[in-house]
Amino acid sequence: MSATRVLVLNSGSSSVKYQLLDMRDSSRLASGLVERIGERSSRLTHTPLATGGGSREWAGPIADHDAALKAVAEELGKDGLGLDSPELAAIGHRVVHGGRRFTAPTVIDDAVLAEIERLIPVAPLHNPANLTGIRTATALRPDLPQVAVFDTAFHTTMPEAAARYAIDVETADAHRVRRYGFHGTSHAYVSRATAKLLGKAPEEVNVIVLHLGNGASASAVEKGRCVDTSMGLTPLEGLVMGTRSGDIDPAVIFHLARVGEMSIDEIDTLLNKKSGLVGLCGDNDMREIRRRIDEGDERARLAFDIYIHRLRKYIGAYYAVLGQVDAVAFTAGVGENAAPVRAAAVAGLGSLGLAVDEGLNAVRGDAPRLISPAGARVAVAVVPTDEELEIATQTYALVKKTN
Ligand code: ADP
Repeated sequence: MSATRVLVLNSGSSSVKYQLLDMRDSSRLASGLVERIGERSSRLTHTPLATGGGSREWAGPIADHDAALKAVAEELGKDGLGLDSPELAAIGHRVVHGGRRFTAPTVIDDAVLAEIERLIPVAPLHNPANLTGIRTATALRPDLPQVAVFDTAFHTTMPEAAARYAIDVETADAHRVRRYGFHGTSHAYVSRATAKLLGKAPEEVNVIVLHLGNGASASAVEKGRCVDTSMGLTPLEGLVMGTRSGDIDPAVIFHLARVGEMSIDEIDTLLNKKSGLVGLCGDNDMREIRRRIDEGDERARLAFDIYIHRLRKYIGAYYAVLGQVDAVAFTAGVGENAAPVRAAAVAGLGSLGLAVDEGLNAVRGDAPRLISPAGARVAVAVVPTDEELEIATQTYALVKKTN
């Protein structure tokens, strides 16, 4: 096949992130972001990586996703990388919710579109935006394979014991209530990259992956297959996040509705947007929280402590789920950059074989690296995630197979 480029699109409700990759060597040709779609102050930032040129910015109103993608196509065209290029093999779309049916990347047709649409009730914020991105891209290049890569796919290997909530089975099934998990593309990529770092095949190792970004999730990966993950029906469950509460007693919701007289929508906003680190201390950026702690700020300290406490509980839980652990891998914005979070997450867990070498933990870099002391029973690693590369790789592998 002569076409070797893949455009990766990550369409949010008011933004589109994109990357164009050449799969001969996985190199990045261009990347960019359209923000505040639908507002007067939309902005397009485009970086032509192939030519080594600097980023270009364009500000002004971009009415909808259609206009956004046309603007992206125009920017790509300026560098000879337009969507009309015969070298473009496929467009890979990040789709947040694939339910139980989509266990692997899938070439999109009408039936696939209908199924993604059917899942909107369980992903009301994400799937509609993903669908808009797919429809817009298909209209621009109807002849090109459009591939959906699902955030949930990697987690579909979870056993029922991990995926089911302990509620009435008929009610759960009627409304498709179960643990689906998210960030799957990242957990897949990082668990494999961790095995590689250890010089092993994915099937030879058990890994706890800690994806700590603004959204955060943990997963237990047994011999390359996910056996548990912290996010659930929605991305609200599990770890303390930038603005999301993670685990709470579900009765808090009844209490806030009955005693606090809050509406369901208000509670939804509270738990998804005004909780987590932001709710606890007003900041969701770990850099700012660390700076405040250094200045003696008690609220920032408590927010950090709650964040770490939850993280340690999940490390312990997934240790027990796996029985035997080869590696704990930290990834995403906080996991890759915040050395104090990594140190605190495993402090005092020597009896589990977990420890961090202070010197190694302080080293910064873009490459996967070990931060545990030499000879440690369990490897502790920093493994930068690359969801775009993973989406492009899965997309390209699928279209090569189908052609
Ligand atoms: P997402 O993709 O979920 O939006 P990222 O994985 O990009 O998030 O992570 C963003 C978060 O990473 C920021 O909110 C901040 O808390 C954290 N972060 C980024 N850089 C650093 C850093 N140098 N030190 C500590 N935390 C950082």
